[in-house]
Amino acid sequence: MPAAFSDPIWQKPKIALAFERELMAGGTVDAVIVGGGIMGLSTALHAARAGLSVQVLEAGMIGQGASGLNGGQVIPGLKYDPEWLIEHFGRERGEALVDFAASTADAVFDLIRDEKLAVPFARNGWIQAAHTETALTAAANRDRQWRARGADVKLLDQAEIAAITGAKGYLGGWLDRRAGVIDPLSYTMELARVATAAGAKIAERQKVLKLNNEAGLWRVATAGGAELRAKAVVLATNAYTDGLLPGLAQTIVPLHSFQIATAPLPADLAATVLPGGQAVSDSRRILVYYRKSADGRLVLGGRGRMALPSSPADWAHCERALLRLYPVLAGIAIEKRWFGRVAMTPDHLPHLHEPEKGLLAVVGCQGRGVGLMSALGKRMASYLATGDATELPFPLSPIRPIPFHAFRQVGVAATIAWYRMLDAFER
Ligand SMILES: Cc1cc2nc3c(=O)[nH]c(=O)nc-3n(C[C@H](O)[C@H](O)[C@H](O)COP(=O)(O)OP(=O)(O)OC[C@H]3O[C@@H](n4cnc5c(N)ncnc54)[C@H](O)[C@@H]3O)c2cc1C
Repeated sequence: MPAAFSDPIWQKPKIALAFERELMAGGTVDAVIVGGGIMGLSTALHAARAGLSVQVLEAGMIGQGASGLNGGQVIPGLKYDPEWLIEHFGRERGEALVDFAASTADAVFDLIRDEKLAVPFARNGWIQAAHTETALTAAANRDRQWRARGADVKLLDQAEIAAITGAKGYLGGWLDRRAGVIDPLSYTMELARVATAAGAKIAERQKVLKLNNEAGLWRVATAGGAELRAKAVVLATNAYTDGLLPGLAQTIVPLHSFQIATAPLPADLAATVLPGGQAVSDSRRILVYYRKSADGRLVLGGRGRMALPSSPADWAHCERALLRLYPVLAGIAIEKRWFGRVAMTPDHLPHLHEPEKGLLAVVGCQGRGVGLMSALGKRMASYLATGDATELPFPLSPIRPIPFHAFRQVGVAATIAWYRMLDAFER
């Protein structure tokens, strides 16, 4: 695969930290965190602030996973609306979960403000754009539920959504002003910087190969031959989960999300394409999401094929979506194409596991992990520090591999093709 396809438009902060490549063997820490994305780094930051000694081990480079590659849309909430969460989790846990879901965008923007993170951002809202009457009804229902809870949200009619997005083809939509956009690579690198300043140690190119429990301590062995001991281990490997913890990779369906970025838009076009700087996800079965970047490009993403891409033609579906929404952008160059992996769970909720005492894992953020993992990392750190499971918004659940997991992948590819066809009919 050409290296350029794993290289997003996002920028590292001007002063980016250098991380360790070598590990001192034989040390003992309170917590080893496997994976240096938003989940791992947020956990590390808050655990270090709670007084724990923390070592993050990242197989590649910080920001190389989904956290540095994503669309940078910071969206509060889960896939489910408040009433569904209360119905399914009961009043007490359900209400707590709704409050948690409502707070996930704050977790990002508060951190950027309080820590003065060098992260380009705009907090002008996110639009869930409806292209069918059914989607519009769902948007109205969502709007009613969140407005009843005092959220700063608004239902948009056809004229309003056309004015805010400048895009063609929507009947209306839902604006959630709690949301916004960030540069996700800067954010991930800045999270690493503040975690380090809080006392966490971060090492790159340290793939964890083996975990063993010996007399109540976890022995963590890396591909480089280093060994550490830890009272607790948190697997924050998400869509990039490998065979480290048996069965974990089989609990998720990893999907590829592909993105394109145009050249910076000329001023006359920039004034009509998302003039207010909101982010958008549409209501199609195979959804398309887009936003403008700080340097004025339109960045658009959507599900891609599971095989690794080999040529720009693999992004043709994104380019078609771009021109369907914004015919005025015909002739504007696509300057960058990249992709990353998203972890889906069958129930569309994140899963938290603790198969043995002190061995924790978090997977599945259904493409909404920027806010979610920032907020969840803080809760995970509280759990590490206190041992109180009520700190966790989701219940700890057993690791349940998806039956016929290997075939599921084939099924997903077929379903995506089928959904894409249905979406095309509804245009
Ligand atoms: C293209 C794309 C667009 C997206 N757009 C959005 C969006 O706009 N908004 C949003 O909220 N979410 C979005 N997402 C989802 C979001 O990026 C993820 O939910 C989030 O970044 C997950 O963070 P994480 O820390 O859990 O995982 P990651 O950032 O993927 O980090 C996991 C890390 O674990 C490391 N690892 C794996 N195995 C090992 C091992 N054995 N040893 C050591 N390290 C290991 C990997 O190298 C990786 O760096 C998008 C995702 C993609 C791919």
